[in-house]
Amino acid sequence: MTADLRDELALLREFGYTHLDVRGGAAAASAAETVPAPEAGAAPLDDLGKIAHDCTKCRLAGTRTNVVFGVGNPNADLMFIGEAPGRDEDLKGEPFVGRAGQLLTDIIKAMKLTRDDVYIANVIKCRPPENRNPEPDELDACRPFIRRQVELIQPKVIVTLGRFALQSLTEKAYGITSVRGSWLEYNGVKVMPTYHPAYLLRNPAAKKEVWADMKKVMAELGL
Ligand code: URA
Repeated sequence: MTADLRDELALLREFGYTHLDVRGGAAAASAAETVPAPEAGAAPLDDLGKIAHDCTKCRLAGTRTNVVFGVGNPNADLMFIGEAPGRDEDLKGEPFVGRAGQLLTDIIKAMKLTRDDVYIANVIKCRPPENRNPEPDELDACRPFIRRQVELIQPKVIVTLGRFALQSLTEKAYGITSVRGSWLEYNGVKVMPTYHPAYLLRNPAAKKEVWADMKKVMAELGL
């Protein structure tokens, strides 16, 4: 069994699948009448997005307008990971499109990149009501998605935005102020933890620290 297939099976198991019909011949043909065939050529990231769009693994499914899976280049060298969608993101189904998102877009532009060059996602795919902090069980339920996104995109660098993104991706209790700006590693990928853009809206003086972090990322990526 290839590593890719093993990963797919592990993910399906996480999402509650206990059986797969791998029969050939007439049995498979009759199964095909009841189970829609996957779209020919559908990329694994799109397939994962479809699973996310149907996800009801936590209570946030009951209050969301849209699942906010992720956007950008599926082959990006650089991936930004935030916390959870807010109101604007929930309405649009796209991460980082509100005020904090505009600031993230400005940071990306200052790095001489566009949103289409990078991949942007959150550790939580559905908006917590009133933008409250995500609960531990919600982070646990959603973690397989962001981890699989990282596996599929295989970025060279991940920038985590704020405490929840860093802690949930790595499942380590890092303090953001103590590790901000220093390289960490997640599954062989370099991770640069920095402040969340929403924090920068409240504390504009911290922008210079984030820019110092982004300069390290640019140097790492040869930008
Ligand atoms: N904050 C986040 O962490 N993610 C978003 O998508 C928007 C705001």
